[in-house]
Amino acid sequence: MRIADRYDAFLFDLDGVLFREAEPIPGAAEVLAELRAAGRGLAFVTNNSSRPPAEVGAHLRALGIAADPTEVVTSAQATGELLAEQGVGTAYVLGEAGLRVALAEAGVGIVDGEPERVDAVVVGLDRAVTYERLRIAGELVQRGARLVASNADASFPAPGGVTWPGAGAIVAAIETATGVRAEVVGKPHAPLFRMALGRAGGVRPLVVGDRLDTDVAGAAALGWDAALVLTGVTTAEEAARADPPATYVLEDLRGLLLDPGA
Ligand SMILES: [Mg+2]
Repeated sequence: MRIADRYDAFLFDLDGVLFREAEPIPGAAEVLAELRAAGRGLAFVTNNSSRPPAEVGAHLRALGIAADPTEVVTSAQATGELLAEQGVGTAYVLGEAGLRVALAEAGVGIVDGEPERVDAVVVGLDRAVTYERLRIAGELVQRGARLVASNADASFPAPGGVTWPGAGAIVAAIETATGVRAEVVGKPHAPLFRMALGRAGGVRPLVVGDRLDTDVAGAAALGWDAALVLTGVTTAEEAARADPPATYVLEDLRGLLLDPGA
């Protein structure tokens, strides 16, 4: 049986799975069209908190990949929904537009300046972070604010083959300063995956990703299957040594349309 016929929901990571920077990965548009035609639920899941879903959907469509913004689930959105559900009313935010908009849309009040107290300090990638804002965030956590991270990615790929500090590097600064560990919403943690499955619909999800530490480990922790594609950051050798291993290791996502036992 084809992998596509074994699951009713497919939760796709983006970078390294559907595209690499500005280039679509071969077969991405066709495979998604085939899954849609077969009635499978789809969601596009990203730890990136800086771009709102509409922008992510537009980027996919510009690459020729059909995607509706309602199918895009970002760590920023999941953070907003989770905090609103938990009754968090006010937040001090280290983050960019995607995170601030998602929190506001969920009904969380964003407090700027130098507040005495807030319910939560929320951290995502913030390319304009300053010592001043790290200090205020740290003081608020010491006065009892929850420390919540949209994701804890240490770094992200940058031009020239180097990496730049990610949200996790900013979270680590506050954790180091306060001794408080952040609650993390994004992959490999469960909240983002659960929200993605809710969006896709279905009860038998397959996570499709290119990273062992987020996509595969996160799926395994939930007892879900994962397909690792070799079009991103992980090599076949690394995939073979992985613990936990991916359910399937595929050259690219066209493998979803094949029977791995054949
Ligand atoms: Mg990826």
